Amino acid sequence: MAKKNEEVKADGKKEVCPKCGSALGEVVTTKSGKKFQRCSAGSWNAETRQVDGCDYIKWLAVEPQALDEKCPKCGAPLLLVTTRFGKRMKKCSTNTWDPKTRTASGCDYVEWMKGTTEELDETCPTCGAKLVLFTSSSGKKLKKCSTNKWDPETKQATGCTYVQWQ
Ligand SMILES: [Zn+2]
Ligand SMILES: [Zn+2]
Ligand SMILES: [Zn+2]
Repeated sequence: MAKKNEEVKADGKKEVCPKCGSALGEVVTTKSGKKFQRCSAGSWNAETRQVDGCDYIKWLAVEPQALDEKCPKCGAPLLLVTTRFGKRMKKCSTNTWDPKTRTASGCDYVEWMKGTTEELDETCPTCGAKLVLFTSSSGKKLKKCSTNKWDPETKQATGCTYVQWQ
């Protein structure tokens, strides 16, 4: 049987950059759990905050993670899925997407992850109130003052504006 051209699977062979033909570098995991490979002919310059050399980045799909939770609709285990844009959702493991017919089958339960807020045992350096640790749906963390609230009507933040990104 003839081998298909250019089908390089995970057999140890390095993939090459479609822009410049250099090998791709190691897989890097971001703080929010996304994975990417950078072209080995490029590197991130923290001083200029720009890429020196080739700026090709290949984002990798994040494998769904089995959760210890049951679907409220059908009782099957839930999966934690991270989208290409770093958003996270829980979906029912019986739900599958068929790329041929372009239809989903199985249970359609989906729950998008919202941010969580955790009280901290630290005080705000600006006003002395307690700080809270906010984790966004994409896994970004920031410490902010507990007096800081978001007013959806005026679309403005109220209270103390102290924020510290983690
Ligand atoms: Zn390249
Ligand atoms: Zn279900
Ligand atoms: Zn404060």
